[in-house]
Amino acid sequence: MNILVLNCGSSSLKFQVVSTDIDLIEQESERCLVKGSVERIGSQALISIQSGSNTNYKHSTALEDHGSALEFVLKLLLQNEHFMIPELTSIADIHAVGHRVVHGGERFKKSALLDADVIKGIEDCIELAPLHNPANLRGIAAATALFGPGLPQVAVFDTSFHSTMPELSYLYPIPYSLYRRHKVRRYGFHGTSHRYVAYRFRLLQKIPRDQVNVISIHLGNGCSACLIKDGDSFDTTMGFTPLEGLMMGTRSGDIDPSIVEFISHKEGMKVEEVDLLLNKQSGLLGVSGITNDMRELLDEEKEHKDRRATLAIDMFCQRVRKYIGAYMAQSGGVSAIIFTGGIGENSAVIRARICEGLQWMGIEMDAVKNLKTIAKEGEIQSAKSAIKIFIIPTNEELLIARDTVRTVMLVPRRW
Ligand code: ADP
Repeated sequence: MNILVLNCGSSSLKFQVVSTDIDLIEQESERCLVKGSVERIGSQALISIQSGSNTNYKHSTALEDHGSALEFVLKLLLQNEHFMIPELTSIADIHAVGHRVVHGGERFKKSALLDADVIKGIEDCIELAPLHNPANLRGIAAATALFGPGLPQVAVFDTSFHSTMPELSYLYPIPYSLYRRHKVRRYGFHGTSHRYVAYRFRLLQKIPRDQVNVISIHLGNGCSACLIKDGDSFDTTMGFTPLEGLMMGTRSGDIDPSIVEFISHKEGMKVEEVDLLLNKQSGLLGVSGITNDMRELLDEEKEHKDRRATLAIDMFCQRVRKYIGAYMAQSGGVSAIIFTGGIGENSAVIRARICEGLQWMGIEMDAVKNLKTIAKEGEIQSAKSAIKIFIIPTNEELLIARDTVRTVMLVPRRW
């Protein structure tokens, strides 16, 4: 089966076509046929596609909405001589679509075959994820319009993996009635990434699922850590929204909630404007005043010795360390910490700065292994380290494709 995996943001669409089926899943031998993205939908869009033979195709054209973006991409893939993917010659070669959906609320504990009721459920979660779920729904509408209502589509939720968190982890210490009335609680995000990392760890260590006790640390533009106990998410740093927890590219992560009212008063801003400021102008960008991009910040630090670049990076690392400590204390013992996401996979410097000073608690890096393990799986702890340190490049699309196959074929998922 060829599964089209779609991840739609407010003005972007990322896609992948994965060739997979139940047997290929068992043999771990699925293949990504093509992947790419469309950025700046709504104006002059940028299309970027990578496939086996043509590794980096780039094109720019005006695309009005997600529907026209998807149509444009499919036409390119099926008709353009640049690609010529033997498995993809007509629209009928797409057998199902898997959508990344950010918020599944309390209802969606696992991936769901899309029908009117499930779509209504995703709509019901819009008030919990006003920026994300509407974009995901636009992707679903675009795929339905293009492929017709007969093609099976599956929603894979960022929140589902965290549905195993105990009350103790997901409740906030505010009046319980707010949870009962409005479902104000921790949901957690990046669930598919943490689930993937835990699954790869289990395979690499050749252990059963219920023996996976790790701290998974996803550091990309968005950042979150997850304590995985006996294979299940036990606690995670993102909360009611993706704003809580670690410091991120443009999100503040944890702050005193009273700051919102204070800034609103002092700066004459509406609460929504402060919320936007905490989501879009804070984190690495806010502290450095330069950029939200970790690579650029590291360059600034090196080339110009920029004080605020260093401050932003140090704060970022300290906050990760803080949660490693918190999760170690809650865990009852973990066998590994795992780095993933753009920064976690690629930046040996940041990994080293995070792990600095953790030797006393049994977390010790091997500097050479750390430097050598860039964008690939590997262990980077020293021989003395009691706790392993893994790098596992995430692959959310693969799990979305797998969930899609299993949901369509009604085969229960084992991970
Ligand atoms: P997203 O969360 O949008 O999927 P990514 O997981 O791709 O983002 O992560 C993007 C972040 O990873 C950026 O801050 C980028 O600078 C950082 N990054 C990527 N490669 C490196 C590198 N070699 N060194 C430091 N940071 C890197």
